[in-house]
Amino acid sequence: VLASTSQRKEQLQNTKNLDDIRENKLLAALPSEIVDRLAPSFESVALPPFEVLYNYNEEVTHLYFPHKNTVVSALCTADEGVQVEVGLMGSESVVGFSGILGSASPYVQLVQVPGTGTRIAIAVAIAEFERGGRFQSLLLAYTHMLLVQVSQTALCNRIHSDPERLSRWLLLSDDRVQSHQLPLPRELLAKMLGQSQSSVSITSAILEKAGFIAYNGAEMTIINREGLEGVACSCYWLVKRHKEAF
Ligand SMILES: [Zn+2]
Repeated sequence: VLASTSQRKEQLQNTKNLDDIRENKLLAALPSEIVDRLAPSFESVALPPFEVLYNYNEEVTHLYFPHKNTVVSALCTADEGVQVEVGLMGSESVVGFSGILGSASPYVQLVQVPGTGTRIAIAVAIAEFERGGRFQSLLLAYTHMLLVQVSQTALCNRIHSDPERLSRWLLLSDDRVQSHQLPLPRELLAKMLGQSQSSVSITSAILEKAGFIAYNGAEMTIINREGLEGVACSCYWLVKRHKEAF
């Protein structure tokens, strides 16, 4: 399922068109002076389904800025090999912030909804960050937002019911992609929710029976968004408000 790094390199091409980078909200918010300085270092990348951008504790070589309709998932790992999603990143995001601090990736960063992105070599990103301008303040503001999302997810995983959490998760994903269809094998869905594959089948069946979603074990289609909004726990709204204020 996982595409190799060399495949990704083949898909690399220099970004000629700077309109491309504006598909990421952080890059779009940069003043032209910084964009001009970084332009030679921007690389367009394809982000294929289920590609691992970083494994747990892997050295961060690039910052990745996902474009529209692309979602990267941050998964926490336990010694037992269990992985649970703690954060969801779309075009409002940067992946690999720990690299700015010289630290390895604390998460497995997995492409959940395939698309495209822009990446910058970590040395270039560190140099720009250390200038202390808008690049730094945007990255810090985003990191704060991610911290809010990750903390809320920790609470959610502990106290909210499975249908509430699945609804929350589907809405967060749906906010980041235009089509209401998400590529979602059962194995991945289990990781998203920190459940066994049999439990996620029961949970998705509840929402399917209510007519809110259709699920074929590989793709989840949202049929009734309002219905999901009625089921989702308050964590969805808390994280959404924070994202919109950003
Ligand atoms: Zn919750």
